Amino acid sequence: MISPKHIEKLIRAELKTMKSYTPIEPADVLSQRTKVPTEKIIKLDGNENPYGCSTRVKQTLAEYAYYHLYPDPEQRELRKALQEYTGLNLQHIVAGSGSDELIDLVLRLFVERGDEVINCPPTFGMYPFSTDICGGRVVNIPRTADFSINILAIKKALTKRTKVIFIASPNNPSGNVTSQQAIEELLDAVPVVVIDEAYFEFSGTTVAPLVPKHANLIVLRTFSKWAGLAGLRIGYGIFPSHLAKYLMKIKQPYNVNSAAQLAALESLKDLAYLRNTIEAITQERERLFHKLNQISWLKTYPSQANFILCSVVNGKAKAVHEGLKRQGIFVRYFDTPELKDCLRITVGKPEHTDALIAALREIR
Ligand SMILES: *Cc1c(COP(=O)(O)O)cnc(C)c1O
Repeated sequence: MISPKHIEKLIRAELKTMKSYTPIEPADVLSQRTKVPTEKIIKLDGNENPYGCSTRVKQTLAEYAYYHLYPDPEQRELRKALQEYTGLNLQHIVAGSGSDELIDLVLRLFVERGDEVINCPPTFGMYPFSTDICGGRVVNIPRTADFSINILAIKKALTKRTKVIFIASPNNPSGNVTSQQAIEELLDAVPVVVIDEAYFEFSGTTVAPLVPKHANLIVLRTFSKWAGLAGLRIGYGIFPSHLAKYLMKIKQPYNVNSAAQLAALESLKDLAYLRNTIEAITQERERLFHKLNQISWLKTYPSQANFILCSVVNGKAKAVHEGLKRQGIFVRYFDTPELKDCLRITVGKPEHTDALIAALREIR
């Protein structure tokens, strides 16, 4: 009999030592843990859309008759609809099971063991996570005090082994965008530049129109945040067409399930509804920003996404996080070298803002 110890020896060494990703928990788990009923939980920790997806999505998914058949491996209808939505030809577009899958696929396409991937913390945790899994080396180039990327330091860090850089714009968790000028500077210097526009619909700024003119620019988008489809896992990338071909080739054939493809399609047919929820969220963002600013022990950072980052100036972010939890309000807490004593608060409905602000005032 082979012992567990023997089997463990077979596991890739770099995977044994890598840090695991800290995901958020679903509402029912949070409810069990805090004894707050699920319907009373105020979930402001995942940048999810509190208004939910279009009702067209729910109706179409309920009526669909072909769940027993495999989905379209070429995602034809969806890519055609995305062509219209993005204004870019479908030969540039590949859909994934969340943009998380596309992050992984891009790295699989380029990264060989020991190749370097530039990461600009504080930022989205999936870039170092997927780099580790692909056997790449993460090179961290921290952002400056106002969370801008440090282009000079990035250029200095380039080596023969540098393959990819990831920039989230707007950045998660800081909420600021990277200017087109800065991105163009990166395009001239770094082999593959991935701009993650997960929050594009809230910021309105994009570099997607540059993709056909640059062989090394990739733009990632998702339906998780603006379209309320986080649970169905659907995202897409806009690639130079020569790269899109490789992604279609290396992805799992049925990577995006039928429900997710349909849901994205129906969302794109109900843009009026979705634009209303985006408008409600961006308006609420400004109200929440103003209210948070009135709390003397919080320092807020302006955001172009559907969340707001704030640091707790008395160094008690952890206690504030715990105090909110006890009242059934969940926000994301950060305590990393780049982000000490910070909370990231997703913009919810007006009543969520009111409950949060009341709870914060009480905690004090
Ligand atoms: C949420 C988020 C994603 C993940 O999107 P999925 O499509 O749900 O995988 C990607 N990038 C950033 C910056 C995010 O905040």
